[in-house]
Amino acid sequence: KLNLEPIPKVKGLSVLHFTDISSAMEATVATLEQNPDAVEHMGDMIISQARKSLGFARNLTFLEGNPTDILVVEMTGDSEAEVHSKLDKLDERMKTGGRPYATTRLMKASEQAQVWAMRQAGLGLMMNIPGDAKPMPFVEDTAVPPEKLPEYVKRFDEIVQSNGTEAGYYGHASVGCLHIRPVVDMKTLDGIDQMARIADEISDLVLEFGGSLSGEHGDGIVRGAFADKMFGSDLVQHFREVKSAFDRNGVMNPNKIFDTPKLTENLRYGTNYKPIAPPVRLDWSAEGGYIAAIEKCNGVGACRKVNAGAMCPSYMATREEKHTTRGRANSLRAALSGALPTDKFASKDLIKVLDLCLECKSCKSECPSDVDMAKIKYEYLYQYYKTNKVPIRSRVVADIHKFNELSAPLAPIANAVNRSAPVKFLLEKTIGFDRNRPSPKVVRNTFQKWFKGHKSTNPSPRGKVILFHDTFMNFNHPSIGISATRVLEAMGYEVVILNDRKCCGRPMISKGLLDKAGENARHNVDLLHSYVEQGIKIVGCEASCVSAITDDWPDLLGGDAKAKQVASAVVTVEDLLVENHDDGKQQVNWSEAQREIQFFGHCHQRALTGTSNSLKALNLPDGYTALEISAGCCGMAGSFGYEKEHVAISSATGEDRLFPAIRAAGSNVEIATNGISCREQIGFNTPRESRHIVEILADALFD
Ligand code: SF4
Ligand code: SF4
Repeated sequence: KLNLEPIPKVKGLSVLHFTDISSAMEATVATLEQNPDAVEHMGDMIISQARKSLGFARNLTFLEGNPTDILVVEMTGDSEAEVHSKLDKLDERMKTGGRPYATTRLMKASEQAQVWAMRQAGLGLMMNIPGDAKPMPFVEDTAVPPEKLPEYVKRFDEIVQSNGTEAGYYGHASVGCLHIRPVVDMKTLDGIDQMARIADEISDLVLEFGGSLSGEHGDGIVRGAFADKMFGSDLVQHFREVKSAFDRNGVMNPNKIFDTPKLTENLRYGTNYKPIAPPVRLDWSAEGGYIAAIEKCNGVGACRKVNAGAMCPSYMATREEKHTTRGRANSLRAALSGALPTDKFASKDLIKVLDLCLECKSCKSECPSDVDMAKIKYEYLYQYYKTNKVPIRSRVVADIHKFNELSAPLAPIANAVNRSAPVKFLLEKTIGFDRNRPSPKVVRNTFQKWFKGHKSTNPSPRGKVILFHDTFMNFNHPSIGISATRVLEAMGYEVVILNDRKCCGRPMISKGLLDKAGENARHNVDLLHSYVEQGIKIVGCEASCVSAITDDWPDLLGGDAKAKQVASAVVTVEDLLVENHDDGKQQVNWSEAQREIQFFGHCHQRALTGTSNSLKALNLPDGYTALEISAGCCGMAGSFGYEKEHVAISSATGEDRLFPAIRAAGSNVEIATNGISCREQIGFNTPRESRHIVEILADALFD
């Protein structure tokens, strides 16, 4: 018989803010008098790591000031009024019990989702603290009667501190089950001893408080060392007999709960973990080194999620562990530590492991531990190609700028030849470009040509901006550059382009040809920096080029200060539209044009800055209504979706949510994108074409 509860009609959250954990624990006891549906605690380590996380820092609007601890109290009811009334009573009670210095009330599901997302990611966020000492799970599931929490947590902390370390705290305060993780270095003997001592002392403490070592996670191996202490040897003997009655040969999940290995054995790291440190080309100082970047993965498995977010597209398409971010990190870690039978780091086996990583950067923001597998892959490919031949296809992709430059003057003949059946067949057979996915057409009248003949008649009170005219804007879609120029001029800018800029290097980076990409980055940084010094912004339109400048150039150039300054000066047209809106200076005079728009943001944009400015900008003209398509990666990922062996995965990735959403959009709905990959992929896989955001915005300008 199951005790099923109806799903509450209305939910409300109160986020109570504290400046120390003991106040939060005192308050927990007082909150329970109000019969909340949940009381969850998050401590200092989670909050401070969330503030540093690319993906989470944007969503902390529910925090006021700098709390060290928060309690999230959920109340439910049949109506908003009922929930408000419960939360009011809670506020009243908090005036004498706990006294949070601030309280945030959240009634919208979207706001509540941000709090729960942080709570869910708590473990991963904590694991992101720098260094080899990490918050480890060996006493992470203790539970005591909730009314004893204040004293218990105080004593717990004393034990941790007396052993020379600190701990991360979070968990289900309402039921007295806190997931407390002392910070220890499991790669050293001292750290392992420290763990064993703390575990032993905590097991005594838990017994003293009448609690349990495993509040919700079970005993497994890690609690086995204390089975006799917790249950008594008689009971453990009965466990043994019952198990043996059903499993005479001891083959079913042996050595769990009792008769387990010692706490200090069977470790993920341990003193024998001595990974080889491969040479590196990129700047890994922010991550603490290449190995530390890989070890950021703590195995919590948020990269196995489906139907939400974009991490990890290859898992969403295949549902195979080896194609998760975690699968890749585990394989690399095993290879670096000699646990895999690969005789050297640069091996074909590992190339296979990384092959389906689309370099979408989604893990960089959606993984709670900020695992940046795209960057890890660029570095790996670079090292691999030091001793292995670079495939011709990779060279062709890397030099797409040159190919476009050569073929543009010959358009449309070059397009006809490129798209002819014999050439497509040849390209497929020789270097593996799928014959059904011809490359984007080039144009004879490039953006650069148009710009040369363009004379703005607008005043430019906002001064100059550099429009970074990327390869694809210039040779394939000049209308994007023309539209961007028109919108920028309508805002009051003087648009400047630099004809001697080079390709941003994205195609080279994606193929691991980092020296070539580095040369381009060096040239471009030196060129752009003098403008940036004058306070001039760099405007990018193609999301993957913007991300190359902001995210990859500093890494390619060894953390170069000039590269970082250039990166911080990069904005999109939408950023400027939102920033300048109603600022008392020149405004865009939008027409009455009507558009219903569905916007799909490029993965790099979603990961690095979020899409809110793009969406806001698309809603600026009075006649425009724009919504965002909630979907994962489109699956194209630069050249990935053109490559014969990747086409099926590429399409399956977009088919996950994006293509159905686009097919379902009415014919009156404009599809807005900001990456050439997404545009091409939508064109290949749905009956619809999409346009760049700035092209759609330019429709609402007066001629
Ligand atoms: S890569 Fe996956 S398993 Fe590893 S930390 Fe990130 S979300 Fe967790
Ligand atoms: S970059 Fe994208 S495809 Fe690669 S591991 Fe991260 S989420 Fe997965």
